[in-house]
Amino acid sequence: MARQQDLWQLAQSRRTQHVFSTIITAQSVERDLSSEDGLRDALDWCRRTGVTKVYIESFRDGLWAKREILVRARSRFQEAGIAASGCVTTTRMAKSSEGGWAMFPCFTNAATQQQLQDVFEFTAPLFDEIMIDDFYCTECECAECQAARGDRSWAAYRLGLMRRLSVERVLEPVRRVNPGATVIIKYPQWYDHFPERGYDPDGETTLFDRTWVGTETRDVDDERWGGCAAYRAFWIMRWLGQSGGEKCGGGWYDPYGTHEDSYLEQARQTILGGARESVLFCYPSLRQDTGPANIEALRRELPALLDLAAWVEGETPRGVVSYKPIGSIAEGERYIFDWLGMVGLPVVPAHEFPAHASVAVFAADSAHDPRFAGSAADFLSHGGTALFTERAAAVAEPGESPAAFVFSPPENLCQFPDLPADQIAALREAALTPLGLQLDGPTGVALYLFGDRKLALENFDDEPCRPVPDRARPRSRRGNCFGSPWAGGCDGPTARTHLLGTAGLESRAQSASRCQWRPSATLSAAARSDTPAFSDDSFSAWNAASGARPLPTSTRFAASTRVRVCRASSRSRDSARMVSNSANRACAFGASSSTPAAWMGFERNPIAPTASALALVSSSV
Ligand SMILES: [Zn+2]
Repeated sequence: MARQQDLWQLAQSRRTQHVFSTIITAQSVERDLSSEDGLRDALDWCRRTGVTKVYIESFRDGLWAKREILVRARSRFQEAGIAASGCVTTTRMAKSSEGGWAMFPCFTNAATQQQLQDVFEFTAPLFDEIMIDDFYCTECECAECQAARGDRSWAAYRLGLMRRLSVERVLEPVRRVNPGATVIIKYPQWYDHFPERGYDPDGETTLFDRTWVGTETRDVDDERWGGCAAYRAFWIMRWLGQSGGEKCGGGWYDPYGTHEDSYLEQARQTILGGARESVLFCYPSLRQDTGPANIEALRRELPALLDLAAWVEGETPRGVVSYKPIGSIAEGERYIFDWLGMVGLPVVPAHEFPAHASVAVFAADSAHDPRFAGSAADFLSHGGTALFTERAAAVAEPGESPAAFVFSPPENLCQFPDLPADQIAALREAALTPLGLQLDGPTGVALYLFGDRKLALENFDDEPCRPVPDRARPRSRRGNCFGSPWAGGCDGPTARTHLLGTAGLESRAQSASRCQWRPSATLSAAARSDTPAFSDDSFSAWNAASGARPLPTSTRFAASTRVRVCRASSRSRDSARMVSNSANRACAFGASSSTPAAWMGFERNPIAPTASALALVSSSV
């Protein structure tokens, strides 16, 4: 109970840094918020989860929540110190989509358009902020839509349609009814399908007051929901965060097709992506199936997530700049940047041509920019290093430029992390040398750079639900590891390689100052005290015990930094200690956000013997 109280107070006190919120669907409003008991449960759940804001939905799947329930729930949440906004989900409307996902509406239909307006006119007097859930799009190919489209492409027709409806049926009606209200457009994570379904993060972001970003990457191997690289959450959060600017309020993710590890990965990526709020979709789903276990894991990590938000606040991510113009589709290479992140390239997005980057990567979507070839030639002639997929190279024609690196992604991009080690090594060398970095180690570990003093590594491997098919073939373990002093840690059992999340960071320029990560197993032990995980106290105690000392002030990561990521068997406890011992030579472990020279780690799964981690290093003083 004490811990629950702590979590609630902590979430309240850190609201300016990061907010955790949830959506209560219209069905759940009717079922769960119509009684005193239900309201009490919901308030209690929010307090225990550190949720300080709710979106109370008025319409979904054809169901209108009753006005009096919405009004009473809004008041009860507000009285409890929980902010309350509205939400609308445009599913199962007057006419459903013919073709594609039937939950999407046919927005060409006049009755659907009128209903859209009715829903917002109903909701706007009740809430000063209203979110539109991410079904505000269409794939309908009915006769009405065909006729209205004429000879335009589906993307051109739908983009124009949704833009017009946004003005005439959503924003104008809302502003007539409640002039002070703001409306949020909530984008899904499938950014490489936006134009063909009518999402327009250029025009719509301009029209709407605020934007939200889908970071629902889920388990890559989940049969129903899988196929999405975990790195996408970071990439899209930064991409839409960049184009949305101050309008971009946060990210959102859900529990579908996840387990605790992947659920927390979504949470970390959302915050690393710069979100100021995390919407936990949605209250009813988080109380069934995998939801309760995910939420329990989130509650445990919440203090660390808030520290992460503080750590990343105001930081500018840097790295290999991936160019994706708004409205582009990477035909044949959809979502390729997500996969480059999964092999350890610190890929950061740009929606405008990255003329001043030291290193950039271009894929098929660059061709959307009519000036791409000329810009790429200028980029190379001014000393930039460019990685091109073969499709991008066919447009840019970089010729024999020594600063151009052309590569062929696998047909099935999910297999990117399984490319032969020499191909991965070549790609890393081309991308990282201009950044003064070298990365060795297995794929499935992502690297993030912030400014010139901070970096993070997150280990996405160790998927307990990874099935057996062709992709699950064991990787070469010794081949993925390094020489001394860590080679011993790489003798894994014959089964899947588990992870300890160990890594080392070495500044060659300052060979005396070495910095290495601890195995997360050590960190877990420190965190499993009665105090909230990763409090300053547990860090201090852990640091004192390990003999760590702060990083020398002169250490910077920008110059010739070598990052080593070592995969070790979870059964090799000795190797974990060995890494710890070797790290004691002269290394830097700070405390949490209140102390500079921060080193933080996050336990991935406190129950399983395997652990992976998000590790952060800062060399600031
Ligand atoms: Zn239609």
